[in-house]
Amino acid sequence: MSTPSRQPPHPDVQEVLFSEAEIAARGEGLAAAINTDYAGLEIYFVGILKGAAPFAADLLRRIDRPLRLDFMAVSSYGSGARSSGAVRILKDLEEGIAGRHVLVVEDIVDSGLTLHYLRENLLARRPASLRICAFLDKPDRRKVDVPVDYVGFRIPDHFVVGYGLDYAERYRNLPYIGVLKPEVYQG
Ligand code: 5GP
Repeated sequence: MSTPSRQPPHPDVQEVLFSEAEIAARGEGLAAAINTDYAGLEIYFVGILKGAAPFAADLLRRIDRPLRLDFMAVSSYGSGARSSGAVRILKDLEEGIAGRHVLVVEDIVDSGLTLHYLRENLLARRPASLRICAFLDKPDRRKVDVPVDYVGFRIPDHFVVGYGLDYAERYRNLPYIGVLKPEVYQG
């Protein structure tokens, strides 16, 4: 089979911020840092559903430390392009994390409210350590300070989709990170 030609971006996408190749290269770098930092330790790897699923799946295959995989699903109340700050756990971890080295893997940090809540919630379970890895970070939008140990890319305040990130449950399957055309979410 011949190599498929590069497809133009989805018509709702205004600009591709990070291509598949750029995402893969950054993933290698993040995994290398994690492999170094967790030498001799078993990682309790917690992917945050749904948005971080593709990133988590790519990242964990590049980690060569002993690893247990778990997921949490959280939802911010309210829908649309901005989170309201109130967080609900829709799916909790399957195992206790006391004494374990927990690595939370998230798609994007925006206001920081979701990760702030998650961090407090998980710290109360007394892990041996807790670190956060976020594929994207929008520092300009931060409302609450949250320590993010590993960041894929820092981006300006754009609403982005693809590589797991949705708008109204669409676009998660795009293999790149793209800026959504504002008219799509402004109606
Ligand atoms: P925070 O609580 O930090 O404001 O928001 C975190 C969540 O909001 C992310 O996990 C993600 O679901 C959503 N979010 C924030 N910014 C974006 C964005 O640019 N695009 C998409 N698709 N979701 C976003």
